Amino acid sequence: MNLALDDQVAVVTGASRGIGAAIARGLAGAGAYVAVNYHTHAAEAHAVVEDIRAHGGQAEAVGFDVSDDQAVKDCFKDLAQRHGHIDILVNNAGIAKDNLLLRFKGDDFDQVVQTNLKGAFICAFHASRSMLKQHRGRIINISSVVGLGGNAGQAVYAATKAGLIGLTKSLAKELGSRGILVNAIAPGLIETDMSSGVDMKALEGNIPLGRIGRPQDVAGAALFLCSDLSAYITGQVIIVDGGLYA
Ligand code: NAP
Repeated sequence: MNLALDDQVAVVTGASRGIGAAIARGLAGAGAYVAVNYHTHAAEAHAVVEDIRAHGGQAEAVGFDVSDDQAVKDCFKDLAQRHGHIDILVNNAGIAKDNLLLRFKGDDFDQVVQTNLKGAFICAFHASRSMLKQHRGRIINISSVVGLGGNAGQAVYAATKAGLIGLTKSLAKELGSRGILVNAIAPGLIETDMSSGVDMKALEGNIPLGRIGRPQDVAGAALFLCSDLSAYITGQVIIVDGGLYA
């Protein structure tokens, strides 16, 4: 039993930056061939790919919007045809458009739900085609501690992250007998572009481990959930928050 992912093909959505980029690097470091998905930041995704290759890993950049069913279908079909299989999907792409309930705009609601929840569903749908054929696969959904506990001003974002937990548990039950394991990770506060507006110093004192999380902290949990070490774990939510939510 080990962390090695040799000969496995992984797709990490939203891997041009932040947590997704760290997960892509982590999986590639363990031997997986990684499709580094981006939406708007193509140059950043190509830089992640170059960095992976410079460290002896294998990767390519793939651009698509996770909420675009046809684009996801085409990309996953192409990957499966070229590599013969897709073994790992990390649904990491996400956006936050936070506001108090009465200030929330309808368009923002739709965008957050389309990207965070529908996007994960679409990617799981198309990845599972390949996984079902080979009777093996791992799907990891990046949720959030606010999906477990809620947060004032984040009603829609939190609802999508709670929705991802329902998706995780349902797919785990549906796909377990076919060798596909589905789990979620709920990060706490992680230092990325998404959290750049948060007053980190004010919150740090509430975190038992005494520091804000780093993207690599989430990548470690993702690597574990993709590896043989988690072969009997499915339908679970691993909280990676330095003890904040404990
Ligand atoms: P980030 O730095 O803002 O990066 C977001 C990533 O998602 C980018 O790579 C972006 O791609 C991609 N993305 C956005 N919309 C997309 C779409 N429609 N299709 C494909 N990709 C899309 O965010 P992060 O902090 O790393 O967050 C990653 C995940 O962790 C998110 O699901 C987030 O909700 C979750 N999370 C974050 C924290 C935190 O404190 N940071 C805490 C809990 C959970 P482009 O840049 O190419 O557009």
